[in-house]
Amino acid sequence: MARYTDAVCKLCRREGENLFLKGERCFGPKCAIERRNYPPGMHGQQNTYRRKTSDFGLQLREKQKARRIYGVLERQFRKYFEDAQRTPGLTGENLLQTLERRLDNVIYRLGFADSRAQARQLVNHGHVEVNGRRVDIPSALVSEGDVISVGDSSRKKTYFKDLEETIGTRSVPSRLSVDINQLSGTVTMLPERGEIETTVNEQLIVEYYSR
Ligand code: SF4
Repeated sequence: MARYTDAVCKLCRREGENLFLKGERCFGPKCAIERRNYPPGMHGQQNTYRRKTSDFGLQLREKQKARRIYGVLERQFRKYFEDAQRTPGLTGENLLQTLERRLDNVIYRLGFADSRAQARQLVNHGHVEVNGRRVDIPSALVSEGDVISVGDSSRKKTYFKDLEETIGTRSVPSRLSVDINQLSGTVTMLPERGEIETTVNEQLIVEYYSR
């Protein structure tokens, strides 16, 4: 499946805020937002974030921000939105819930990876099982009660041996539970809007697609 392959720090600089796309580096002085706090491109330094933005501009930026945080390309994102519209309830909340149900996001939220990009790679490389069966599709949606684990052969790898040492120190949302010994996690419930840790204003995204 297609994915964004250019420099990811540009995406944060374009949105004017930390999107935490690179794991550890995002919390240190090397973060590009700390060093070059202006949009990317030749005219970035003239085009500061203080520039007046139209309603459409705000809606577009919010949609782009959400796509970039979750690592989803436009076509798939629009499909998620259309599915969210068809689902009973608030469209914006349905959309965020779907994004949170992506397997790569759940791996990241469980603390098995430092970023969603890394989680995506772990899934792509076949290290992840859902309910005991290997799943190598990062966009697969998990459901309440699903158990996400690391395959037996993968657990012998250095990455996962190191992870066993540190996983207990990572904070995990209450809707997920982690079994440190088994290196697995369970989706105990699907997230309500108030429990989703994100700066995304989903209402602006709904307005963007409803134009
Ligand atoms: Fe964004 Fe992380 Fe790069 Fe900082 S280091 S600009 S938060 S991806």
